[in-house]
Amino acid sequence: MIATDPSTLLSVQGLTQRFGGIIANNNISFDVKRHSITALIGPNGAGKTTVFNCITGFYPATSGNIFLFLDKNNKPIAISELLNRPFTGGAHQVARAGIARTFQNIRLFQDMTVLENLLIAQHLRLDKNLFRGMLAHQHFEKKEEEGIEYAMEWLKTLRMESHANRLAGELPYGYQRQLEIARAMCTHPKLICLDEPAAGLNPAETEQLSELIYLLRDQHCVTVLLIEHDMGLVMEISDHIIVLDHGVVIADGSPQDVQKNPQVIAAYLGTEATT
Ligand code: ATP
Repeated sequence: MIATDPSTLLSVQGLTQRFGGIIANNNISFDVKRHSITALIGPNGAGKTTVFNCITGFYPATSGNIFLFLDKNNKPIAISELLNRPFTGGAHQVARAGIARTFQNIRLFQDMTVLENLLIAQHLRLDKNLFRGMLAHQHFEKKEEEGIEYAMEWLKTLRMESHANRLAGELPYGYQRQLEIARAMCTHPKLICLDEPAAGLNPAETEQLSELIYLLRDQHCVTVLLIEHDMGLVMEISDHIIVLDHGVVIADGSPQDVQKNPQVIAAYLGTEATT
């Protein structure tokens, strides 16, 4: 089944992921609309990160399909086909197709500078020009200059220009979280998947994060899919929420609908969800 609403950017259809005897995702289906902020929530162990890992090509789904509709008139890209391409890593191909991600535990290059972290992300796009670059050095240099300019624009947006030459590992935690998002944005994605972006942030930093997420959607025309345990943030910024519990979708709707859904209330009782 491929046909879907033209406003859909990503369609997860019957996704199942098993790890031996554990069924982390059990026949999960949902759509993510273009230019939306969509949250994937659920108690610990519900299967959220596993969904992200399948969407972003970290491993192939046991069964089911995930389609990316880059253009309303274009044929969808099946994530499974990207993973099957020979000689290239799955996650790399998915990133090139327009899906970027951040991680629950920050995964910056700690021993590289802030600017270098952003440039490395752009090499994902530049490296296909590497051979041409070696033949036409000037062209390659121009691309590098553009890359630095783009990275500096992001640092300006985040008010982090003065940190450009600091080692990423030396940045305060809140800055590291923002840098991870900027790094993902430097791959020029259509969809950005944020895995618990508010984890460990104080209220002021969480407020800045919500502004940044709005900026991604409203000024950079990026679709945001986020996993988050901070229910205050989720209810405030999300256009749409999908709730997982024990590997299945138990609710899919607006924040208002989801909040009063009895199955969702029951799933969260006794869990550590932040209010
Ligand atoms: P949390 O909110 O705590 O991060 P989650 O909703 O993201 O949880 P997942 O990390 O997707 O949940 O895990 C779902 C289930 O799958 C859990 O039982 C987990 O132990 C299991 N699981 C996840 N990844 C693997 C793996 N690589 N190998 C074996 N089991 C796994």
